[in-house]
Amino acid sequence: VTYYLNNIETKAHLNAFVEVYGSSALEQAAAIDEKIAAGKAGKLAGMVVGIKDVLCYQGHTANASSKILEGFESQFTATAIQRLIEQDAIIIGRLNCDEFGMGSSNENSVHGPVKNALDESRVPGGSSGGSAVAVQANLCTVSLGTDTGGSVRQPAAFTGVIGIKPTYSRVSRYGLIAYASSFDTIGVFSKNIKDNALVLETMAGSDDYDSTSSRKAVPEYSNLLHFNKPAKIAYLKETVHSDALQPEIKEHTLQILKKLAEEGHQVEEVAFPLLDYVLPTYYILTTAEASSNLSRFDGVKYGYRTPNAHNLESMYKLTRSEGFGEEVKRRIMLGTFVLSASYYDAYFTKAQKVRRLIKEFTEDLLTKFDYIVLPTTPSTAFKFGEHSNDPVAMYLEDLFTVQASVSGVPAVSIPNGTDKKGLPIGLQIMANSFKEAELYAFANYLT
Ligand code: GLN
Repeated sequence: VTYYLNNIETKAHLNAFVEVYGSSALEQAAAIDEKIAAGKAGKLAGMVVGIKDVLCYQGHTANASSKILEGFESQFTATAIQRLIEQDAIIIGRLNCDEFGMGSSNENSVHGPVKNALDESRVPGGSSGGSAVAVQANLCTVSLGTDTGGSVRQPAAFTGVIGIKPTYSRVSRYGLIAYASSFDTIGVFSKNIKDNALVLETMAGSDDYDSTSSRKAVPEYSNLLHFNKPAKIAYLKETVHSDALQPEIKEHTLQILKKLAEEGHQVEEVAFPLLDYVLPTYYILTTAEASSNLSRFDGVKYGYRTPNAHNLESMYKLTRSEGFGEEVKRRIMLGTFVLSASYYDAYFTKAQKVRRLIKEFTEDLLTKFDYIVLPTTPSTAFKFGEHSNDPVAMYLEDLFTVQASVSGVPAVSIPNGTDKKGLPIGLQIMANSFKEAELYAFANYLT
């Protein structure tokens, strides 16, 4: 803990942590040392964990990087965090992110942007940018992020670390401040597969506080990392040959596929004609869900309330106008529009239907193949400001990550070399729902 606290201090300019629980982390550590001496320590004893600022931790502030949650203190602890604490993990602090998880660069945060430790003129990715940099820069052993459309995998790729998005419903969402409830997942950043697997197996599993959490038993992923059979691997033609793809990423992805074929795995190119529809489907459905989820922030129940109101209605309006950032407002408006009476069928219902097609296609492919391999991102980490005035360009950053989110299947991003500038490239692997053990074993084989 002292090692990490020192690193957090010397690397404070990266802006990864928005709050450090220094003294309580040291106290927790001392108590765990005693447990270790008595032979009674939990399986995560010594693991130092940072948590994204969208997860509730009783008695601690949670802001979702938004002004609208200014002054908000959690009344209870997220199930995911509770389970880590029960196994003696040490929670060291709260990590910066895009406001309510909306963004791909961590530039939409009331706490200011997070810097990529490899090149401080570049973004760390988002929305879990702080969580990625905290692991990248050795500010904690592992961190929790959330992934609705790529917010763990994309920043993992940009910072050169490992990031998993589990199957939707694998980890309870209790205590996670909602962005898009039918997409939100809690994921893990780490430098090695074993730590990642240990954390996920501890957090996962059914929870009475989240009726959507799966009751399926959780395998001990960390003991199933051995990969010994030839695998069937599909890669999607439209992703590897996409015009949007940076040439070095294409090269690295094809190289690894070639190597896998040479090692005796079955590697096949598959057409994915739905690729063009994945991103619009994702943005229609997530903005719809977000507009509904964020209606609770009205200046009464949580956090910020405008001091400028003169009646009830102006209190609502001004609180929300002053409290939400630009991107969040854009999404609330988009979501309200696609849910409105005249456009509901044309956009929302249509997108639900397309979601089903994408899900069926992906699940079907993953019964024929063990894995789908594709790049995590179209480009390596970009510069601050490069996309901030062009929301569509920013949304295009999620081109390859949203398929797993729309389908609900698990996906992991692992480092796959660097481009000419030395910036990390991510390789993404998807497996069928609840096949996290298989995903980890394959990722372990490749790293
Ligand atoms: N960048 C995507 C978005 O802005 C993904 C965000 C996420 O996964 N939380 O919606």
